[in-house]
Amino acid sequence: MNLVLFGPPGAGKGTQAKILTTSRGLPQLSTGDMLRAAIAAGTPLGLACKALMDKGELVPDATVVGIIGERYDKPDCARGAVFDGFPRTIPQAQALDEMLAKRGRKIDLVLELKVDDAALLARVEQRIKDGGPVRADDTPETLKNRLSVYYANTAPLLGYYGDQNKLQSLDGMAPIQTVTDQISAILDGMASV
Ligand code: ADP
Repeated sequence: MNLVLFGPPGAGKGTQAKILTTSRGLPQLSTGDMLRAAIAAGTPLGLACKALMDKGELVPDATVVGIIGERYDKPDCARGAVFDGFPRTIPQAQALDEMLAKRGRKIDLVLELKVDDAALLARVEQRIKDGGPVRADDTPETLKNRLSVYYANTAPLLGYYGDQNKLQSLDGMAPIQTVTDQISAILDGMASV
């Protein structure tokens, strides 16, 4: 089972991906986490991406396609994976389809978590107020840019996956457990993947 979790920044993709790792044994492949790890490790790739990420801009397609391809060949992806924050552009989605096809695999399902912009901004503002760990790109200004990048570059993927009949949408404003239960029901209803 290869699953894409799709939605705007802060929609709860990472939360649901982590739950799926435990409940279904599918590893979470988050390009955002991988890039932040590269920055933390001070690798050349991390250094090259940091300024773009801090501004809420996308890093180049070739960069994320490369790291995803490498990660997908690790043994824990033998039964598939949950893609979180990838793909974010049409060329990334095409590269993912090609990468999987070469391995005799495919994307089985794309789950869209629908959340409105005002709620996303409120979530980030609340996180800042709570004084918890706040990412360099978690400021209201950067989030606004991440949202416009999402609408310009990433939202068109809804059409891409809709045309492939792979898209199912969920209310990402519902409580975490409700979203988890809905995802679970969809996965249980899918034959043999
Ligand atoms: P968010 O919480 O905004 O969804 P992520 O953790 O997925 O954030 O990504 C953080 C940043 O990392 C993005 O704003 C972007 O700069 C970079 N990034 C992550 N994934 C990709 C991708 N697939 N393509 C291009 N840039 C990416």
